[in-house]
Amino acid sequence: MAGEAKAQSKLDQIVRVIAADMVAEVCSIYVQRAGEVLELFATEGLNPEAVHRTRLRVGEGLVGEIAAHAQPLALSDAQTHPAFVYRPETGEDPYQSLMGVPILRQGRIVGVLVVQNRTRRNYTEEEIEAMETVAMVLAELVVGGGLIGADETAPADGNAILPVRMDGVQVNGGVALGTAVIHHLDVAIRQFVAEDPEAELARLDAAVGEVHQNLDRLFGSRELAQQGEHRDVLEAYRMVAADAGWLNRIRDAIRSGLTAEAGVQQVRETTRLRMGQISEPYLRERLADLEDLAVRVLLQLTSGQNGATALDLPEQTVVVCRVMGPAELLDYDAHKLRALVMEEGSVTAHVSIVARALDIPVIAQVKDVLTRIQNGDTVIVDGDNAQIFVRPSEDALQSFQETLLARNARREAFAQVRDQPATTRDGVSVSLNINAGLEIDVPQLHATGADGIGLFRTEIPFMVRAAYPDVAAQTALYRTILDQAEGKPVVFRTLDVGGDKTLPYFASETGENPALGWRAVRITLDRPAMLRQQVRALVRAASGRALAVMFPMIAEVAEFERARRILDMELAREKAAGGKLPRQLRIGAMVEVPSLLWQLPALLERADFISVGSNDLIQFLFAADRGDPRLSDRFDSLSPVVLAVLRDLVHAANRAEVPISLCGEMAGRPLEAMALVGLGYRALSMTASNVGPVKDMVCALRLRPLADYLGTLLNAPDHSLRDKLRAFARDHHIPV
Ligand code: PEP
Ligand code: MG
Repeated sequence: MAGEAKAQSKLDQIVRVIAADMVAEVCSIYVQRAGEVLELFATEGLNPEAVHRTRLRVGEGLVGEIAAHAQPLALSDAQTHPAFVYRPETGEDPYQSLMGVPILRQGRIVGVLVVQNRTRRNYTEEEIEAMETVAMVLAELVVGGGLIGADETAPADGNAILPVRMDGVQVNGGVALGTAVIHHLDVAIRQFVAEDPEAELARLDAAVGEVHQNLDRLFGSRELAQQGEHRDVLEAYRMVAADAGWLNRIRDAIRSGLTAEAGVQQVRETTRLRMGQISEPYLRERLADLEDLAVRVLLQLTSGQNGATALDLPEQTVVVCRVMGPAELLDYDAHKLRALVMEEGSVTAHVSIVARALDIPVIAQVKDVLTRIQNGDTVIVDGDNAQIFVRPSEDALQSFQETLLARNARREAFAQVRDQPATTRDGVSVSLNINAGLEIDVPQLHATGADGIGLFRTEIPFMVRAAYPDVAAQTALYRTILDQAEGKPVVFRTLDVGGDKTLPYFASETGENPALGWRAVRITLDRPAMLRQQVRALVRAASGRALAVMFPMIAEVAEFERARRILDMELAREKAAGGKLPRQLRIGAMVEVPSLLWQLPALLERADFISVGSNDLIQFLFAADRGDPRLSDRFDSLSPVVLAVLRDLVHAANRAEVPISLCGEMAGRPLEAMALVGLGYRALSMTASNVGPVKDMVCALRLRPLADYLGTLLNAPDHSLRDKLRAFARDHHIPV
């Protein structure tokens, strides 16, 4: 491999060596060319005429099968396999058994390496592993050896130079314009095999030691606050970095004759492959951390460098990656980092949490972004709408810049009215609150001038942890939230897990209809210890301060009563133990399951407040999955049906003199919020960035005409009242 020969003649040589070594009659190398075609590039044993002539599409034949699944295949009777196709020019009919492995580079298929035998052979695990090691070495030659043009290896979708707009999932809001920096630090490995394993092991240890020291420096960086979930995440990463299993696998690879860097690379490739197959979010996170770590060790080994710190970054950098570990993001100079775009990742990915702490826009799950964006492309990242514009046209760029200016101006304006109450022109005040779920969300409470936290989703801190937090950990967390709220009210919602919100360490079967399944209070009533511990932590965290707790997914009053009894038990216990009880305790229910609507009088007699979870309520009213994009435009939150239900709710609460608020997404959209205020809602809770726009709307509103107008609309058989309400807002100069 290290010799001077041309890449093609190296391939020819390699197939001969492997065939002899594996006692196989055939060894062939297929290289993936543009258009997902696998071309026979070298063979020992098949007809030499077939070289550069035999081509298979990915997914076609056994070779295509290996490429399509990125998985090794070992068959003692290959010809009876359903995917087998016969290519007469190869002359492969006498060969019964086949074993092949994908040639992978940076998680992508670049070719397939195959051996075939005349007899029916069962290939051993060791043989498959040996082939995988060879394939790893081959990958460098296939990509870097000039076998095919660089344009063929660079993934492209044909119109790579045209502007494109791509959608993803919002992780953090905000907008940014910058230059794409594709994050994969390409580490070129020159030496694969080593004579002296002991020396290689010593190199590995030295590099790992150096990486650990660098991590300590990085995690102490000034840009990050010293507290918050991102600290937990970085601690978890530190544990991964010390993972003995991972290091041992690398050591084993080195003992088999590889250099330290080739050992790391081999373990890294297997990790990547596993990553592709695992959907469980917690494990994926761990594997992503390992990938991050592997790159660090590789860089250290090959160049003594340390992450992206060494890169010469554009002044406005938009980092684009498949997914990355939290430490990798910190490598980028925070003063130049403007946004993060990921092909995978999610809201709870470790890197997302760190990115939120840095307060940059982040979009995840942008399909195929790595194949459609190139280094140096101009990118607009619109985190608020979870979309990016790659290589925007001059017009688009200009209009974006105008949007940005207008946005900044509006932001300024919102900051100016931060401390003013949200009061309509006819003097009715509306309490605007924020929804939060992480410690890093809480400063928004003060930044936006909101009245309180109307919904603290306690499940989110549970979701980003590696293990179930005990009472002490929960107490510490809730105490910090209350401390940071500085006396503004916080409504803690008890755990709403299940459905789509899974806890990595809590085995829950999803069932056929997760949203209708075992979730939220249904779980915590069946596992009362969970609820007791959480309530205990909340009571202790409040310690003499006011406390508000609400239960999610209450379907009938009896459930509310059961949950409340558990809370009472904890209060009694705390009292007996001499603890300080909350100065004031308010216990509420979320109204988000329609059945509860028919028990409202009984509920309102017992609850201190209610909060409408319109996200779930609407999904259950229409029997329409809230997460299904095919249904997202099907039913409207401004339909007369929804508004009539919400009106009846607010009337019932007002009659019973029980405070009511609404904390679903519609509260944060100015037009919807206008309708809610018109129906009688005087408290709303929303994503922090919406407080300014909603306050703007409220302050421009005159209530009487709106309430009268709404009264005429609610019995209409319309699909939606959106257009009519928008026209009303326009006529009355209400910014929505
Ligand atoms: C809701 O259902 O409207 C709500 C606020 O709760 P979540 O979105 O967390 O289910
Ligand atoms: Mg809900």
